[in-house]
Amino acid sequence: MITINQHYLKLQTSYLFSTIAKRVNEYQINNPEKEIIKLGIGDCTRALPKVCIEAFHRAVDEMADDATFRGYGPEQGYPFLREAIAENDFNNRGVDIHADEIFISDGAKCDTGNFQELLSSDISLAIPDPVYPVYVDTNVMAGRTGEFKDGRYQKIVYLECTKENNFIPGIPAEPVDLIYLCFPNNPTGAIITRDALTQWVDYARDNKALILFDAAYEAFIRDDAIPHSIYEIDGAREVAVEFRSFSKTAGFTGTRCAFTVVPKACKAYDENGNAQSLHALWNRRHTTKFNGVSYPVQRAAEAIYSDEGKVQVREIIDYYLENAARVRQEMDALGFSCVGGQNSPYIWIDTKEDSWNFFDRLLHNAGIVCTPGAGFGSCGNQHIRISAFNSYDKVDLAMKKLSTALKSKANPM
Ligand code: PLP
Repeated sequence: MITINQHYLKLQTSYLFSTIAKRVNEYQINNPEKEIIKLGIGDCTRALPKVCIEAFHRAVDEMADDATFRGYGPEQGYPFLREAIAENDFNNRGVDIHADEIFISDGAKCDTGNFQELLSSDISLAIPDPVYPVYVDTNVMAGRTGEFKDGRYQKIVYLECTKENNFIPGIPAEPVDLIYLCFPNNPTGAIITRDALTQWVDYARDNKALILFDAAYEAFIRDDAIPHSIYEIDGAREVAVEFRSFSKTAGFTGTRCAFTVVPKACKAYDENGNAQSLHALWNRRHTTKFNGVSYPVQRAAEAIYSDEGKVQVREIIDYYLENAARVRQEMDALGFSCVGGQNSPYIWIDTKEDSWNFFDRLLHNAGIVCTPGAGFGSCGNQHIRISAFNSYDKVDLAMKKLSTALKSKANPM
């Protein structure tokens, strides 16, 4: 008899985006004349940078000629892209990362989800709340958690991120082996200070633990004091893996390209307590289960590191940051307690009421779609996430509508 991986049955159906779509759809059917502005989903709205499109076209033309055609490439990625990343994202910032420590992939979602495969199923794990759900669900699938009870999986150490700790998870009382951190954070938009990140790296070193650091939103950091990479912290090479993506950096959400950094010094331990190289294990996994990102996509990604590419990427991110600043300014002025929106495309707003109720009122009274925080974990309730991925005009209009609705006596928010 064929049997299933029983752990899949513990997974909760994610109703977040389907419920949002259903409610928005119903509202649209009942109010066809009303304009809706979507500030919910974290997907880019602006076109790829021009340099990427040009590189893409050139690479496609190469594929059209026998003399320049490319078949399977290296599974880990072409050297031209790995070298450009090492130099521009790390070495130029004084961070010691080599091209062969970078693994190109088709997404940080897959990599953050897959990396746990290298680790034993009986390790203890710490996951922030609220959180990007992939970290939780992939560990449920792997059998590292118990059942889902009262809104949480048993056996996960939840690192609560609240106003009290500036949405930066603190070191837990109980020992943990695997820690997920994401900064700038999705969904809260919070950033981590160098000191707080140092505490986590020191913790991991002292406890032979591993940090999986998701830096998918690194490109939004504008404040010089904020670390762009965990490897800016002394000793992190031995205890941290970093995930990056071209998705939010350069609009590759539909084009697909990302990378994972696994330093050669990074170790985990076998059953006899002997250190094993995670670089060697990830290389083995990646080359066995993955066959590389397409050549034109890697050429398009490489283009963001040219002089022109850097200018174009900065212009796109600045645009979203201006949107985020507009949201933040309005929400601050209206008296909401918020985090994010600076060094991040997300603004996390304390609604002081059930996040789905607030979602409904925002939709019905102002025609704005946000994301209810409850979808990201228990600590997300009484919060909403507003995303800056839209046109400035729409964001500006949304904020005007929100302000009017809130101040309206007839229809107060
Ligand atoms: N990590 C975080 C924190 C994200 O928010 C997202 C996408 O929203 C991803 C990873 C996924 O990135 P990719 O498009 O490279 O799969």
